[in-house]
Amino acid sequence: MTPPIRRVTVYCASSRNLDRVYVEAAARLGVALARAKLVLVYGGGSVGLMGAVAESVHRGGGRVHGVITEKLVAMELARQTCDELDVVSTMRLRKQRMEELADAFITLPGGVGTYEELFEMLVARQFRDHDKPLLVVNVNDYFRPLLDMLQRGVDEGFIQPATRDLLTFVTAPEEAVERLMG
Ligand code: AMP
Repeated sequence: MTPPIRRVTVYCASSRNLDRVYVEAAARLGVALARAKLVLVYGGGSVGLMGAVAESVHRGGGRVHGVITEKLVAMELARQTCDELDVVSTMRLRKQRMEELADAFITLPGGVGTYEELFEMLVARQFRDHDKPLLVVNVNDYFRPLLDMLQRGVDEGFIQPATRDLLTFVTAPEEAVERLMG
């Protein structure tokens, strides 16, 4: 029997310059996590979609566990109201800690930091370093180019179909949480 899912690591954008559609999706994910009593583990930041998801988990009465680096704390980019905030020395340690804490991963739209986190977990899953679910919320079809790139990789023999299939793409944030609870 697979253990119950209690903590979900969310990877998402730090950018502040985003269309409302993305901010609303992040807020909806926060509501859904809080309703399902899932602890949010995330980058510990107060900005961008990270700030939006954490704020809405708190508004919904849920718990937030941030993992951030000393440098980002010094830049005053940490969300001081996290229920727990782990401060680590490097970005690498931070990713490792976010991985250890997670029972599952949800990725929202983001930039290179988000892509790096998602792909690191995909490769780790491919090599069976973990077997935690990997969900991607395709808000506003943002990940269409990624879906096409993965398909091209499969078509041209670079990516095993089974590896591509380790990523579950959903459209709505609530669906990501439902899949984890189902
Ligand atoms: P990006 O997608 O490039 O905006 O990077 C976002 C991802 O990288 C998040 O999931 C975080 O884990 C991490 N990250 C990048 N910038 C920050 C920041 N200012 N504060 C906290 N985490 C960050």
